[in-house]
Amino acid sequence: MSCLICAGHAESVDCLAGWEERRCAQCGCYRMSQALILTMMDEGQIFDAEKMRHWLQLQRSVVAIPTIAAQQAILLQ
Ligand SMILES: [Zn+2]
Repeated sequence: MSCLICAGHAESVDCLAGWEERRCAQCGCYRMSQALILTMMDEGQIFDAEKMRHWLQLQRSVVAIPTIAAQQAILLQ
């Protein structure tokens, strides 16, 4: 499995339907909505890995596993 943020090697973790969970050595553990993944693939968009890692770090002070949905992805562009 590859990381959805940096495309590096990541472990896939079972989670709720409609979500993908990854554990990446670089980005840590996060969940991303499958709808968002499809949208981004459709539009040929990729994440800014540095910005996403920073955002994930902030989120981890609030929740154990940050979830990334469309709003966050758009905000971070
Ligand atoms: Zn990563």
